[in-house]
Amino acid sequence: MPGSHSSFTNLQPGPYPFHKFHGFSPKRHILSLGLRDPNDPQVLHANGNDYVVAHSVRGSKKVTPSSYRSFAASLRPDILFSLPDIPYTPVPHSQKRVTKSIERSLLWLTDQLIDHISRDVAPPAIFVHLLGGLVSEARSAFANGLLEPLKEKPHIHQGVFGYVLDLLPIRHSLSSGPSEPLPLPIVTSLLHASLDPLPQTKPRLLTGSSSPHEILHHILHSGVDLFDSAWAQRAADWGIALDFCFPVLRQDITKGQAITARPVAHNLYDELYATDFKRLAVDLLGSAELKHDSAGEDNEKRICPCTACSPTFSSSLQLSMIPETRCGMSRHHRSPVGISTICWHTHEMSAHALLVSHNLSVLDAFFAGVREVLSAPNGEELFALEVNNFSRVYLDTLLGSDGVMEQGKASWKKVDLARGKAVSSERGKKFNGAEDCLVQA
Ligand SMILES: [Zn+2]
Repeated sequence: MPGSHSSFTNLQPGPYPFHKFHGFSPKRHILSLGLRDPNDPQVLHANGNDYVVAHSVRGSKKVTPSSYRSFAASLRPDILFSLPDIPYTPVPHSQKRVTKSIERSLLWLTDQLIDHISRDVAPPAIFVHLLGGLVSEARSAFANGLLEPLKEKPHIHQGVFGYVLDLLPIRHSLSSGPSEPLPLPIVTSLLHASLDPLPQTKPRLLTGSSSPHEILHHILHSGVDLFDSAWAQRAADWGIALDFCFPVLRQDITKGQAITARPVAHNLYDELYATDFKRLAVDLLGSAELKHDSAGEDNEKRICPCTACSPTFSSSLQLSMIPETRCGMSRHHRSPVGISTICWHTHEMSAHALLVSHNLSVLDAFFAGVREVLSAPNGEELFALEVNNFSRVYLDTLLGSDGVMEQGKASWKKVDLARGKAVSSERGKKFNGAEDCLVQA
């Protein structure tokens, strides 16, 4: 959020000031603007009738709807998330507070749309946060409110490009910890209360998901189109490498009931990997391992294009500096797990960078597979079948008190303590602060 938005367009002239400021090409990158990270569990002071309390680098700041409209007008993002009045205050929230939240959010959205109509510029694609907390009736009331006539002519929903379903406020209301799996039947019912009154033609974004199993469930049962990837990045923070693909490998299908389900992620702090020099994922290949003429089991695996699994070198470096390994790997092959394991035990930043790259690549390949299956002639039927196969092949081991996320977090803390009292003392405060912050969700 810019500190001085009024002068922003002067500093970043042109039709794409937001892209220019970040150094992104408008042809390659879609940038969005929202007041709050939808995965930030920080508890803040209550919002007011004419302001929202936002988490800032200095603590918190009150932002008025008119200021937010001004930010949007100055920055011109591709996507604008509407300003919601989501209470990030201690639960439970009264019915009066939920009603207030709905009324304020609809009013601020209406003002935002009127502001766009009054300006002679193309408006950004507006995504609306669907509110109502844990009350199905309140969620339906908000959705129906979006279909009410606007003050001027069009209906509100005609100026709305898509919808946002946030899991964090639901988690907050259920007092569920960040590592606990959410009750899927309850969440699905709440999402339907929001989505059923609304047109199915507009994209639906779900924020705050935590695992591939949860994502597949909400595609299949809630009709969600888009997901954020914060959980995959958070997994990398704790040394967790993702390892799954969709649809599952055909070799797993042929095994039938004889298959042994495997985990969707690996905790790289585990002693199992101390001398493991294989690639980060079993179910994806590094680019150097692709053998076009091979009829082996690996032939059907996707390539993980991340910088850890598929590093690329200049031709001179490839030929002269990388020795042929005894295991028959090409000169291009590295041992990313070995590198990462060492780096993890020293908390090297490069380990985080490699693992974030890997996890996001695995997730990208996963969504590519989802799109491929759904675009088949009998896509919906096939997708349901493949979701069932995925549940048979992969164990949802990420969440829960004994899940790999908790294991990785505990190992991370142990390494930090082992590195020295002075360092751990300083960093421990930071770590504990972050953890407390998560627990508050
Ligand atoms: Zn990778």
